Amino acid sequence: MLIRPPGFRGAAFTTAAAGDMLSGDRGEVSGTLGIRAEWASLRQVHGSDVLTATEPGRAGPGDALVTGARDLPLAVMTADCVGVVLETEDAVGVAHAGWRGVVAGVVAAAARRLEDLGRRPGPVLRAATGPLIGPCCFEVGPEVAGLFHDRHVKSIGGMTTVDLATAVRDQVPEAEWWSVEACTRCEEGWFSFRADRTEHRLATLGWIP
Ligand SMILES: [Zn+2]
Repeated sequence: MLIRPPGFRGAAFTTAAAGDMLSGDRGEVSGTLGIRAEWASLRQVHGSDVLTATEPGRAGPGDALVTGARDLPLAVMTADCVGVVLETEDAVGVAHAGWRGVVAGVVAAAARRLEDLGRRPGPVLRAATGPLIGPCCFEVGPEVAGLFHDRHVKSIGGMTTVDLATAVRDQVPEAEWWSVEACTRCEEGWFSFRADRTEHRLATLGWIP
């Protein structure tokens, strides 16, 4: 039901079995993780703005959220896009990145903001990507492929696709990365907007216990 990246202070990804995290019951997930049920979140707009959370609720329009506060879960919601958790010595951040966000550099922007946060500023040590639409399924047209570095563009069975996870990892090369190895589009157990225009969302959560 929940995926916990190993070695992280506070990070989790939900699966479809945990329910719709856009409107669903967050109490059960929060209880399982031992975190408060009131999360800080964003009105996600596929850009690169980074907001600092100081309290639960919608922090505003943006696609990355950071905090140095304890016991304040940060959440982004996805269904094919990349959910990212970033940890420094003293702060945590989450980011939502579809292809527009990746091109806009939202994950790099979140990392730079995190470096200055907390009582012990420093680099991103650990980062993780959640379930996302893989290069097996993320077909794009030439206008989108042209926005990515060649090494992130794949040619699979006549399709041109983008490897979003690798493109995200390359934005914070100093971090030690961990990934959920799953494709939301062609594997069971997730939500995929491309598959069926779902309104349900998975959650990516980061917090400081
Ligand atoms: Zn796939």
